[in-house]
Amino acid sequence: MKILDLFIKILKYTFVLLLTSIFLATTSLTLYFITKSTNVLEDVDEAENQKQLIVLISMDGLGSELIGQNTPFLSSQLQQTDTSFTLDMQTIKQSETMPSHISMITGLTQENHKFYLNSIDDETPPLTSETLFDYAIDNNYSYYAFLTKNKLLYLLGEKTGENILSKEEYSSEILDDIDNMVETENSKVFVFIHLRDIDSYGHTYGWNSEEQKQALRTLDNNLNILVSDFREEFDLYNRYFIFTADHGGEGIQHSNGCPACRRIPLIVVSENTPTKYELKTEVDSIYDTTCVVLDIMEDNPHRDLDCTK
Ligand SMILES: [Zn+2]
Repeated sequence: MKILDLFIKILKYTFVLLLTSIFLATTSLTLYFITKSTNVLEDVDEAENQKQLIVLISMDGLGSELIGQNTPFLSSQLQQTDTSFTLDMQTIKQSETMPSHISMITGLTQENHKFYLNSIDDETPPLTSETLFDYAIDNNYSYYAFLTKNKLLYLLGEKTGENILSKEEYSSEILDDIDNMVETENSKVFVFIHLRDIDSYGHTYGWNSEEQKQALRTLDNNLNILVSDFREEFDLYNRYFIFTADHGGEGIQHSNGCPACRRIPLIVVSENTPTKYELKTEVDSIYDTTCVVLDIMEDNPHRDLDCTK
């Protein structure tokens, strides 16, 4: 009898011990997986909250051949290890401000965006293609647009608001406006800036004239000020500065698709970013600029654009 009692007792204890260890094992496993999934969520959260600033600066009329001794700031950017650039990008054959800018921000060839005018009036049908401003909204970016030719308001379509400003002035006159308007309220910010200086001096005095070179030195210095202002205000952001142009010029014109009219720069400076943005080798046309910005935004859907082909 006693031996049987003892045996039952041992059996009972073993059973309790077994249950306890199963309970402990299950609890620790559950805890492990909960912790792990929380970490994953935190990582996702961190990636989504990564603050990012993208500034696209279109310098009207600044063909690649103007970059050199009169652009000490831009030239210094080309020397930096965190800069990726080409000076051999081509604007469209009809090297004019309106159709070139439409290619720049739609990612489409002129044949596909079908805009052949260089001016806007009441009869001009609205822009039907989506633009970088639409793609910025899709990717939860807030956007700002600063324009120094009123006709470029056409690029905004129906969009209005205090985040859009057009002033027919030279860059020196709008630096403060830009600085005052752009806010760090959103963690993702896209800024488009159009600067007319070089084009205006080119039409009046000629491309490569002394007057235009002087304007170029002023513009270059203003770019330095702009970048410094953004750097200060967006100090915790990943910052990407993209410098480009709609066309170059020759004599006092730029519309005929001459080599100097079509050759434009695309300079991408990565600042405070986890990795440097590297231009793909196939980037060679003005419409590729849209895809560069979409890449930086980590835009996901496949869009049927000429620059994605
Ligand atoms: Zn232009």
